[in-house]
Amino acid sequence: MPKKVIVIGAGPAGLMAAERICAQGYQVHVYDAKPSACRKFLLAGVGGMNITHSEPYDAFIQRYYDKANWLDRAISQFDADTLQDWIHGLGIETFIGSSGRIFPKDMKAAPLLRNWLKRLREMGVVFHMRQKMLAIESTYAVFSHDNQETVAKADAFVLAMGGASWPKLGSDGRWQQALAKHKVVIEPLKSANCGFYSPWSNFLKEKFAGSPLKGVAFRCTTIEGVEVSKKGECILTQDGMEGSLIYAFSKYLRDQIEQRGQAQLVIDLLPQLDHSQLVKKLSHRKAKESFSKYIKRTLNLGGVKVALLHEVTKPENLSTPEKIAASLKRVVVHFDQVKAIEEVISSAGGVCEESVTEHLMLKNIPGIFCAGEMLDWEAPTGGYLLTACFATGVLAAQGVEQYLQS
Ligand SMILES: Cc1cc2nc3c(=O)[nH]c(=O)nc-3n(C[C@H](O)[C@H](O)[C@H](O)COP(=O)(O)OP(=O)(O)OC[C@H]3O[C@@H](n4cnc5c(N)ncnc54)[C@H](O)[C@@H]3O)c2cc1C
Repeated sequence: MPKKVIVIGAGPAGLMAAERICAQGYQVHVYDAKPSACRKFLLAGVGGMNITHSEPYDAFIQRYYDKANWLDRAISQFDADTLQDWIHGLGIETFIGSSGRIFPKDMKAAPLLRNWLKRLREMGVVFHMRQKMLAIESTYAVFSHDNQETVAKADAFVLAMGGASWPKLGSDGRWQQALAKHKVVIEPLKSANCGFYSPWSNFLKEKFAGSPLKGVAFRCTTIEGVEVSKKGECILTQDGMEGSLIYAFSKYLRDQIEQRGQAQLVIDLLPQLDHSQLVKKLSHRKAKESFSKYIKRTLNLGGVKVALLHEVTKPENLSTPEKIAASLKRVVVHFDQVKAIEEVISSAGGVCEESVTEHLMLKNIPGIFCAGEMLDWEAPTGGYLLTACFATGVLAAQGVEQYLQS
């Protein structure tokens, strides 16, 4: 009989590990708490699934912040090109969007998943659904199934139980208790790619909640003292901000809140014009012209941008063209709280680098490997999340093969 491997977690990381281990000739059984596989992956496909990114590898790997060196072992051998080849092998075409992001041709996750599950079943992977892992030891795992405990034995395990965002889709982070028992070092799970709370005035809330803030640039200083800036758009909400641009700053803002209790973000409302161009455009104000008409006529600026300008700027700083120009380039917004992990796209934290070997085997429980978002890394949206999940699934599978052959 070939040796048996159990993969716990039927998300992208777990299924990738299952595919690779099965291809090596082992019996693979996948267990998952939910009735069906890849629920978060399918949700990712609802808004247009961004599976990886076409930027050069040196820039790509830096998207994993201080974990770039750690993840390089996994991602350098399963990078954006290899990932695309793998998708094409499932009969799904991909394309590169204008931002460099790579998508399946129809932007959906479901056709890819359908073809993938079919291939896995044909290879011999066996699925056990509605099995929630409660405990793990090096040779067996305990599951809860229909309120009854079952024990499953294997020669090796891959844990790929995700982070803790959107827990109703299956990944609720409860695996932490099972691993903490073995003294595995786990960085607490935190919100990533998330919105932030700011106490807006009633006027801003009532008039502009839900308004998109387009064509702006954000900048902030990281807790390490590095200035970061980026153009894009986000949405002003009832109690803060949401959307792609704020998500891209979420690690920096979250770190600031953790360290100082508050985060500061500087918004440039008109990044396409420099200070002197703005001053020139603002140079002629008609007699008795209101501020809103003046700014609309000279800069074509109105709505939420002007409301935000007034929200944070003292009237005396809007008294001359020079002061208005400076204020437009420096709208300082403060955030005091991160959106709850249940509502956000991904989570940071997880099983730490120091707890695993180069091939992601838990040092404290030989034969048990980890992959995907349950490891302690984070990345912005843009396909980097899924790429790291797939790549760590591949690396864990290589580790399993080495372990079972030794
Ligand atoms: C709205 C949304 C949009 C997204 N869009 C994108 C995108 O466009 N591009 C991108 O790169 N990423 C995107 N992501 C992130 C991406 O989906 C995740 O990073 C990825 O799914 C994580 O994969 P994983 O395999 O590590 O974990 P998961 O996909 O979370 O899978 C973990 C699995 O483990 C199971 N499980 C958990 N605990 C247990 C247990 N105790 N016992 C048994 N089974 C358990 C769960 O049921 C689940 O099936 C998005 C996420 C969200 C929420």
